[in-house]
Amino acid sequence: MTDIKIFQGDQIGGCVTVISAVYKGTTHRIMIDYGSSLQGNNEKEDFKYPWKEEPIDAVFFTHYHGDHIGRLMEIPGEIPIYMGATARKVMINIQEALGSSKRIADADEHKKEAELLKDANRVHEFAWNGSCYDAIESPGFRIEPYSVDHSAYDAYMFMIEADDEEREEGKYRILHTGDFRGHGRRSKAIMPLIESYIHRFGRRTVDSLVIEGTMMSRSKEEVLSETEMQMKAAKYLHKHKWAFLICSSTNLDSLASFYQAAQMANYRYGRYMYVYSEYFEEQLKTFSETAGNFSDIYKFEKIAQLSNMKSIPPGQRRTPLLTQQEMMEAFGFIAVIKPEDYHEKYIDMFIEAYKAGRIDEMPVLIFSMWNGYVQEYRTDKNGKKIINTAKNESWIRFLKRQEEKGVHIEYLHTSGHATPKMLAEVINAVDPQDKIYPMHTECAEDFKELPIRDELKVKLV
Ligand SMILES: [Zn+2]
Repeated sequence: MTDIKIFQGDQIGGCVTVISAVYKGTTHRIMIDYGSSLQGNNEKEDFKYPWKEEPIDAVFFTHYHGDHIGRLMEIPGEIPIYMGATARKVMINIQEALGSSKRIADADEHKKEAELLKDANRVHEFAWNGSCYDAIESPGFRIEPYSVDHSAYDAYMFMIEADDEEREEGKYRILHTGDFRGHGRRSKAIMPLIESYIHRFGRRTVDSLVIEGTMMSRSKEEVLSETEMQMKAAKYLHKHKWAFLICSSTNLDSLASFYQAAQMANYRYGRYMYVYSEYFEEQLKTFSETAGNFSDIYKFEKIAQLSNMKSIPPGQRRTPLLTQQEMMEAFGFIAVIKPEDYHEKYIDMFIEAYKAGRIDEMPVLIFSMWNGYVQEYRTDKNGKKIINTAKNESWIRFLKRQEEKGVHIEYLHTSGHATPKMLAEVINAVDPQDKIYPMHTECAEDFKELPIRDELKVKLV
């Protein structure tokens, strides 16, 4: 008999799913994601999976966000790990940067994690065969990875066939969505994907659907498509020549939106994207070399590091030669910083340039992350005002200080998660025959209110 266990599914973060099946008389298990709880959730500590008592044959990662892959190091050494090739590179970049950082106390742990990720005996990549990713066979299971659009690039959903003697066809089929959305650049593929690869045009059904529900508690948030956000950013950057940006180093789609917007904004040469570290530059190069092969939108060509401001960029042929800072003042920029005290100096430099009359407008700041990080309060699903436990106090203070200096802050963000409307469309299209498991959500019971067919509502777990 097939069994699906979801751990910590009633919170946003800390995702773990374990599926077991009986193969030749023995129970076998696979795990999907082993993530850390997000800051501000009620759980004090993540649960510990009983690796000895309920052994796992293989772990599959949907994507590189910490709430899905954060506890990679706790996975016992003999268990093979599967993930996307680009996701693996992105993770190695992160762990190597943290491993060599002087700001981090447990740098050695990150070095070890980078080593683990590079170990070809431990980590296996999903292999593209020209039309889809190769299925992975594990005793009792066959796992098919499919690419989905999410704020993490190289994210996957999994179609899992488990051996099950109690079923007519000898198989129990589970579709595990991971995190996904319907308003990204690559989202249009999802419905055709369900029809062709998942259902094989009516020749294959899904028994259980495991589906994320992050946006269920945020249903009142306005959702822009990634392309709409890019257009808004282009208009904004057209008006504002000296712009700072707060955006995750791994949110490829949004970084591409701002980079492309900066090229579209009406200044003669397009604009450089400046980034705060060598690590960030490495991440953009990784994206250019991977995603950039599929679409020019993901090619970051004009990039430079903020730390080189006083130097003269190589290859310059103008007279007199300009330092990077002088070029930034003359030609404008979009510069990615963190909302941390040590990056405030960059904003201050351009406030100074404005006061000295070298630039004719104050610098501006775009905040492109989930608003929940910087709001004191939030409304719960009943519309009640409650203290926001996910907030980051020091970020809130950072933004406040910039406003006090006269820096305009523009909030421009689009979610990485499916809207309730999109969740309903996917549930209806997948048409699970047995059960629907909502996860990654604080509002599983609200799935009943979604516009899904009545015969599906009774399948909600
Ligand atoms: Zn995610």
